[in-house]
Amino acid sequence: MAYPKVLVIDDEEISRISCERILKRIGIETTKAGSGREGLDLLLAEPHDLVLVDLKMPEMDGMEVARRIRDYDPNIVTIIITGYATIETAVTAIKEGAYDYLPKPFTPDELVIVVQRGLEKRRLDRESQALRQEKEAMERNFVTMVTHQLRSPLGAIYQYFEVLLSDLGGDLSKIQREMIERARERLDGLLQLINDWLDMNRIQTGDIAHRLEACPLSSCVSAALAGLEMAAMEKGIKLSVNIPQDLPRVCIDRNTFREVLSNLIANAIKYNRPEGKVCISACETKDCVVVAIEDTGLGIDEKEIPFIFEQFYRSKSKAVRQQQGTGLGLAIAQKIIRAHRGKIEVQSRPGEGSIFSVYVDKERRE
Ligand code: ADP
Repeated sequence: MAYPKVLVIDDEEISRISCERILKRIGIETTKAGSGREGLDLLLAEPHDLVLVDLKMPEMDGMEVARRIRDYDPNIVTIIITGYATIETAVTAIKEGAYDYLPKPFTPDELVIVVQRGLEKRRLDRESQALRQEKEAMERNFVTMVTHQLRSPLGAIYQYFEVLLSDLGGDLSKIQREMIERARERLDGLLQLINDWLDMNRIQTGDIAHRLEACPLSSCVSAALAGLEMAAMEKGIKLSVNIPQDLPRVCIDRNTFREVLSNLIANAIKYNRPEGKVCISACETKDCVVVAIEDTGLGIDEKEIPFIFEQFYRSKSKAVRQQQGTGLGLAIAQKIIRAHRGKIEVQSRPGEGSIFSVYVDKERRE
């Protein structure tokens, strides 16, 4: 911190000036304010590292100022100066977001010690924040780089397996064919994981909020179902869609919202029983449209529900493990729907089925 900036808020001019003089001797620049409101305006106008605020002031007292500073920027270090130093005031001050308090009257040395300690905390906070951001950026870049580098060679290997398994591959013994089929299946899972992981990193919450547009839900559902009908047919699962004609349009980002519906419908098929049912229905509430995806499948144990939206979480049950999956589908869906300012709810009965309900804003009719 090259030039730390300190703000002194005190209604007594003499106190402001003496703080300024003492701190100037150790090379600290101060700004002064005669009331809480003036101080808060100064904070908004230019960044400060530390605020010294008198507890007893007319209009807005020091506690209220500390509370507002904490709400505005919790990283600013606030020190309360008080003539009534009791344990109680100290505790309340700290609760309201102050870092420390200084009982009046204080000597210049006492002021200097408290301010230097506060500024040291500010410096350490900043350093650790910068390190955290750097670490996060490195992790993001590293993962994205590795996943990109892995995807193309794995895709090529997959193609070779396809050729070997087709007639072009010549005569393969039964055992060779089985081994290649197993390898292809594992590779398929790995490619799915890489694609999901890239997806998870690609979704930028801010971008989605900017792309929201009003769309009819039925067209989103049709788009999501394309490509899943085959999987349903293979398992003998009956798909039904029940969307009221007069349902208001939904405010969504088409591509990512379709991805959410696809993920949920794919799960409803994947974790269903053979010859089961999947029903997609919708209704409206005061502000939202609710899309429900209901299945007649395995269901989810109540204990597991809090975890299913976490990255890489998959149920330990054998029936789930028999299905290929990455444990990222619901985490992606949750991230997308949160970016829409909506929510996903789950109701489930083990052995009977589950309902995933997605809430998104509806178009307002003037
Ligand atoms: P994946 O399906 O790849 O495992 P998801 O993130 O989509 O990952 O789902 C996480 C877990 O939630 C699944 O492994 C499964 O245990 C459970 N789950 C999700 N959808 C359903 C469903 N419709 N019925 C039963 N369990 C489900």
